[in-house]
Amino acid sequence: MSIIVQKFGGTSVADSEKILSAARKAVAAQKQGHQIVMVVSAMGKNTDMLVELARQINSSPPAREMDMLLSTGEQVSVALMAMAIDSLGSQAVSLTGAQIGIKTDSTHTKARILSISTDRLHGLLDAGKIVIAAGFQGIDEDFNITTLGRGGSDLTAVALAAVLSAEACEIYTDVDGVYTTDPRLLPEARKVLQISYDEMLELASLGAGVLHSRSVEFAKRYNVPIHVRHSFSDQTGTRVAADPETSSQAVGGAALTKNEALVTVKGVPDRPGTSLAIFSKIAQEHITVDMIIQNVGADGKANISFTVLGDDLATTRGAIERALAELGSGHIESSTGVAKISVVGLGMAEQTGVADRMFRTLASAGINILMITTSEIKISVLVDREQAQEALRTIHAAYELDKAPTTTVLSETERRRDSDALTVFTDLAGMEGLRVDRVLLDANQARITISQIPDKPGVAALVFEKVAAEGIFVDMIVQSYSGGGRADLSFTATRENLADSVRVAKQLATEMGCGEVTSGTEVAKLSVAGIGMRSHTGVAIRIFQALSTAGINIEMVNTSEVRVNIVVAGTCGEEGLQCLQDAFADVLVR
Ligand code: ADP
Ligand code: ASP
Ligand code: MG
Repeated sequence: MSIIVQKFGGTSVADSEKILSAARKAVAAQKQGHQIVMVVSAMGKNTDMLVELARQINSSPPAREMDMLLSTGEQVSVALMAMAIDSLGSQAVSLTGAQIGIKTDSTHTKARILSISTDRLHGLLDAGKIVIAAGFQGIDEDFNITTLGRGGSDLTAVALAAVLSAEACEIYTDVDGVYTTDPRLLPEARKVLQISYDEMLELASLGAGVLHSRSVEFAKRYNVPIHVRHSFSDQTGTRVAADPETSSQAVGGAALTKNEALVTVKGVPDRPGTSLAIFSKIAQEHITVDMIIQNVGADGKANISFTVLGDDLATTRGAIERALAELGSGHIESSTGVAKISVVGLGMAEQTGVADRMFRTLASAGINILMITTSEIKISVLVDREQAQEALRTIHAAYELDKAPTTTVLSETERRRDSDALTVFTDLAGMEGLRVDRVLLDANQARITISQIPDKPGVAALVFEKVAAEGIFVDMIVQSYSGGGRADLSFTATRENLADSVRVAKQLATEMGCGEVTSGTEVAKLSVAGIGMRSHTGVAIRIFQALSTAGINIEMVNTSEVRVNIVVAGTCGEEGLQCLQDAFADVLVR
């Protein structure tokens, strides 16, 4: 008999009437002949309330006790849901994460699922019961209760759907699907009918809170189709699956992370091992960093900038202090009044002029870009928090995200990419473990850097419009703020385009009164691609460790959910490739 997993989020079980309404959905699906597993979140804002209560008692509560506390929210809901089902005349049994046998590691408040036992679940389902599973929780090998990270009930649902080979994983929430951007921020956002795992993964990690990013990672790994739907309607929602909705638009969605913090570590030694020292200390705290930019400074010193979530800033600063003590020089600057806006789309990798549209749009709105990073399927910019909402609105309009796409035909490249996504990882041990599919070298790259560009709206737009007008396909772009009203802008292009790129860059540098153009730098791009590339903070450590041991300096870095790209000197490409292959040998799927 087919199994359906139905997950109900906090707002969908916020009061008794809503709990009864969710119960009716489950009973109706059972009557249609399915076996039903419900996954429920804590009622309404219950988890927030518990977090606040803890903080009133202890400003940094022990993580183990936090998990003990937060898991109670879901325990309340499952019991009430079972009572609701009973009142409708069907049989139900509620189970905590521990009772199901969701085993996790011991990283309290951010635990990862190691395994799930299905015997008990199948037994109960076969006996005709609706199983009601507490979302967001598990148990470690010492029987401590763990939680999976805020919003983690989505992950419980997808994981149960995977191990039970469920026919569907329905995520019931307070919106009727996934939109091109958060509909609460922009009313003109459009509901998409289908979105690819990779796009959803990026959007979720870049701020689209509708799905927990690790749930999408899990769904991709085990090829679980997700259906995001409204709790109180029967309308079709959004399917998250291997195929995207369309290929007619380069950009499929936009996301905003309002609560970003920009961290700049200044005056650190410009030598291999510096990034390792800093990022390994941060990774040990299980903090994910984004928009990493490293610049060569003066006198053998470098500046490294990156962003973290505002909530992680204090811990991040503490970690860096420890690294600086080892490095012997450097100081930290940070600011919190910033927001990150990103656009995501599988079609981006094949089209020119995608990035400069974003830069031009922001320039026209008089919005200054503080930082830029790009990867194959996303572009992120950091702007002043006050301008974030307006930035999101204009970008959404510029890519015509409010308009329905015109074609649903996939290009060959996209088909190939999608069939990659379909590779199912069959080893169920350590279910959320890191998985590397490929370590790659692109030896045909060149880096062009324009230093000291004026830090004002419109500069990036001008540069990339001119570059695009020459028909040059730009791969990576990074722009950092270098202080004193100036920024550095680097990009990579293929070596054949080097001469043209340098010519354009020099011309613009003269026109705009920039500093020197570092040209002719033949570089190699190393990539590590797989699943869990950003959420496993240990990936960065491995990369930095391997390259530092080999004495290879890192010139540029960019990360996405599925890939980390590192630019090194052209002469270090082969050696770098070998180092990274060795470093990831144990998790490389061949
Ligand atoms: P639940 O409690 O059901 O898990 P969440 O609050 O976690 O619900 O997620 C639903 C919310 O996600 C919506 O109310 C919406 O404001 C927000 N959201 C953010 N980005 C998007 C998006 N791209 N599409 C739809 N909803 C989004
Ligand atoms: N109740 C938990 C939270 O609020 C888990 C969830 O809702 O997904 O984060
Ligand atoms: Mg949620």
